[in-house]
Order: sequence, then C-alpha cells, then structure tokens
Amino acid sequence: MAGTGAFADIFDGDAYKYYSDGEWKKSSSGKTVAIINPTTRKTQYKVQACTQEEVNKVMDLAKTAQKSWAKTPLWKRAELLHKAAAILKEHKAPIAECLVKEIAKPAKDSVTEVVRSGDLVSYCAEEGVRILGEGKFLVSDSFPGNERTKYCLTSKVPLGVILAIPPFNYPVNLAVSKIAPALIAGNSLVLKPPTQGAVSCLHMVHCFHLAGFPKGLISCVTGKGSEIGDFLTMHPGVNCISFTGGDTGIAISKKAGMIPLQMELGGKDACIVLEDADLDLVASNIIKGGFSYSGQRCTAVKVVLVMESVADALVEKVKAKVAKLTVGAPEDDSDITPVVSESSANFIEGLVKDAKEKGATFCQEYKREGNLIWPLLLDNVRPDMRIAWEEPFGPVLPVIRINSIEEGIHHCNASNFGLQGCVFTKDVNKAILISDAMETGTVQINSAPARGPDHFPFQGLKDSGIGSQGVTNSINMMTKIKTTVINLPTPSYTMG
Ligand code: NAP
Repeated sequence: MAGTGAFADIFDGDAYKYYSDGEWKKSSSGKTVAIINPTTRKTQYKVQACTQEEVNKVMDLAKTAQKSWAKTPLWKRAELLHKAAAILKEHKAPIAECLVKEIAKPAKDSVTEVVRSGDLVSYCAEEGVRILGEGKFLVSDSFPGNERTKYCLTSKVPLGVILAIPPFNYPVNLAVSKIAPALIAGNSLVLKPPTQGAVSCLHMVHCFHLAGFPKGLISCVTGKGSEIGDFLTMHPGVNCISFTGGDTGIAISKKAGMIPLQMELGGKDACIVLEDADLDLVASNIIKGGFSYSGQRCTAVKVVLVMESVADALVEKVKAKVAKLTVGAPEDDSDITPVVSESSANFIEGLVKDAKEKGATFCQEYKREGNLIWPLLLDNVRPDMRIAWEEPFGPVLPVIRINSIEEGIHHCNASNFGLQGCVFTKDVNKAILISDAMETGTVQINSAPARGPDHFPFQGLKDSGIGSQGVTNSINMMTKIKTTVINLPTPSYTMG
C-alpha cells in the first residue's frame, strides 16, 4: 500500500516528505499542497510546499554530488540503474495505486506505466554503456591546408545538474525518461514532479533511494509549479532543463538562461483518412488514439481529417465503438475516467459549447458529472470552431470532412503544434508523400500517433517542442562533446 512498508519513510502520517541529501524531509515552510483525487474531488494526499532555501540547498548538493558521480565508472552507474529498475518493477502495485488516486489513470494502465518505466531505466543503462563508451578519432589532413599533425579525440561529458519537470499524465514514465539518461551520462538530477502525480513520483524516487545512489545526486522538491517553478527554471545552478508539459514550456524557454533545453510540449495530432483506407482499422485506431486515458495524452488523435466520400461510413463505425466504451472510476478500469481537474473539465466544456453554438454535429449527447466527461465525437467541425485547433486534453474528438489530400495537409500544417500525425491509406507511395508534407515530428502510417516504444526518437516541431527525446537522443542531449587535440611536431602518416 502507498506510504507504508518499504515506503513508510516517505510519509509522516499526514503529508508526504520531499527528498534531499539522501533523506526524506518535511519542509521548513510548514505548508503543504493538497492533491485532489479527480474521481472523488476530495483531498487524497498532501505534499510539502518546498521553499526557495530548500531549492538552493538541493542545487548545491546536486553540484557537489555530480562531481564524484562523473568519476564513477560507467558500468557502475549502469549497475545502479538496473537495480533501481528492478526495485521499481517490484513495487509496481503501490505506485500504480497512487496513479489511480492522483490522476485517475485506469488501474491496468497505471501498472503498465510503472513496468514500462522500469524497462526504460534498464534500456537506458544498456544504451548508455554503449554510446557513452564510444568517442571519435579525427585526423587533421582531411581538411584542406593541413598535414597530419593533429589527432583529435572526442568524448561525451556530462552537463552537470539536470532539472527535470514532467507533466501529470505520465508522471512516472516521463520522470524516469529524464532521470535515467541524466544519471547514466554522469549528471545529477533535481526533479520537480507535477502536483497531480507528485506522490507517484515520490514513491518512484524512493526506489532510486533504495537502489543506493549517492546522497544529493537525486533530489525531489515538491510544490506548485506556479509558486516554485520560476525559481527552479531560472536557478543559476541548473545546467539543463528537460521539461514535458503544455504552454508552460514556451514560457520557460523564454526565461531560462543559456543552457540546453529539451521541451516536449502539446500537440494537435491530425489523423488523415484517405478513400482507400481500411475503415475498420481506422476506427479502432481512432478509439485507441483519441480516447485512451480519456484523451489526456500528448499524442492523442486530436482531430480527424477524413475524405468526404468515406466520412459517413467512418463516423458510423467510430460511433458504434464509442457506444461500447465504459465510463466510470479508474479503480474499475473504465475506458473513460474523470479528467485530471475541475478546471480541465471546464475548459473541455468550453470547447464543446463553442462547437455547439457554431453548428457541429453531436454524435452523442454531451454528458458530464463532476470531472467525468462521457466520450464525444463531434462531426462536421469547421475551422472557425476552437476545437478544430485547440488541444482539449479530454475525451472529445472533432471530425473535419475534407475534399482533397491537400486540404488535410493544409489543416495539419496551419496548426501551431507539430507533434505527431497519422495517415491511413493502402497506398504506401501516397503515405510517404503525405508524411513528408506534414510538418510534425513524427508521422505514423496506418496507426494512431504514439510516444513509444521509448527508444524511438520523439520530438515536436513549432510549439510542440525543442530537441528530441527517446533513450539515445536524451542521453546525447544531456551530454556535451569534449575534444582533446594532440599536436605532433611533425606530420605522421600511418604506415607511410
Ligand atoms: P503543464 O501545466 O504545462 O505542467 C507541466 C509541469 O510544469 C508540471 O510539473 C507543472 O507543475 C510544472 N509547472 C507549472 N508551472 C510552472 C512554472 N512556472 N515553471 C516550471 N514548471 C511549472 O502541463 P500538464 O497539464 O501537466 O500536462 C499536459 C500537457 O502536457 C499537454 O499540453 C500535453 O500535450 C503535454 N504533454 C506533452 C508530451 C510530449 O512529450 N510532447 C507528453 C505528455 C504531455 P504543477 O503540476 O505543480 O503545476
């Protein structure tokens, strides 16, 4: 059970503690932040509201710990990560329990998130020993005007202190996708978990604690992003920020100093459906892509752009499948569960009302109880409706009927976002042309957008992000190339 047994140290009976200097502590602020259960809408947990002094302290500790961690052999760093991964998977039940209570993720998906996270940590350890164990050797005489008098050796060195800020929807997975590459590469790490999802993250961090990482190397400070976020992201002790979330990331990018940024932000992933598509396959993917975790996924299908000639048939098929979705509590593994907060539900409702006023066709009746919104397909959506462009982050999916492929591509590319997209057709040549034309970080052919498997490169264009993640890319991003040049007094040609 959460906060008991192996996790008893992280909980004081009333609130969860934060993690600093290898210990679980109460904040000197004396204040806590409430985490509201999206299903009951009552306080489920409390976490510490950390102070600026406590942030300063973890930054100092992280700086010192990183120096000796960078001198720890790579294979030993990998060994500790493998240990943490095993402990994480061993304790999947209590962590999944927190995900259910904090973010209303269906019970089975919550377990999957923890197991997937353990696998990611192990994979990262393996990948790290390979790619960080390699460097480059260059000779000078390949560049005009040079003799072979210079040998250049390159290797990857850590950046220092990485600040990791994940969002609520995959708090554990998107935290470890930053923690593991940072640590294998020899960095230290400060985690600021999302408020909804903080307790799941604290349990996950305790698994790293149990694995025996050095004191100060990993810290976890809790508190509302709106209160301590700026102090963290503008802190002079931070050498790199890895952030996943919404528009907050754009604001952070403008405020952060001259440090590397990894930004994985929002999306409005389009699903383009051509006349020759297998409509049963499309319908299943729209359900999976649009409604899993109640649409609260960055890569959810967020707008369907379907050719008019097959639109009626597709809408009928999707409607039939929507009718079969179960709606209810995450504990019961319902397909559709309450969205994360009342303000999210209100925002979604605003988009629905706007679409209603502007004449969208409602394929189901709009229904909401508290934070629970029933799945809704909106047909005949037009570009003047907000839902055509905005990310609802809820179980509401707009369908726009198009008369040409160009119209679909144009809508996709007119978006501020450019995360992923997908195209359904049996004609692979057309699929490639459309994929090339779509201004998104990834295009899936004949499947819904997805972030994963976790070692695939994952990136957004435009307002969807900066840089790329995925195990290898994240390790590379959290390192810098260091060069040593050996200068010879005379040219030296091998065997020459
Ligand atoms: P969010 O509101 O942007 O919050 C993300 C994180 O930022 C949270 O930990 C939040 O903490 C923190 N934060 C808030 N204000 C901050 C500040 N001023 N400085 C620093 N940190 C601050 O996003 P969300 O609602 O959690 O997640 C949903 C969004 O994430 C969607 O837009 C979704 O598309 C996007 N997302 C993108 C990806 C991707 O890989 N591209 C993956 C998943 C989700 P608090 O919780 O304490 O406010």
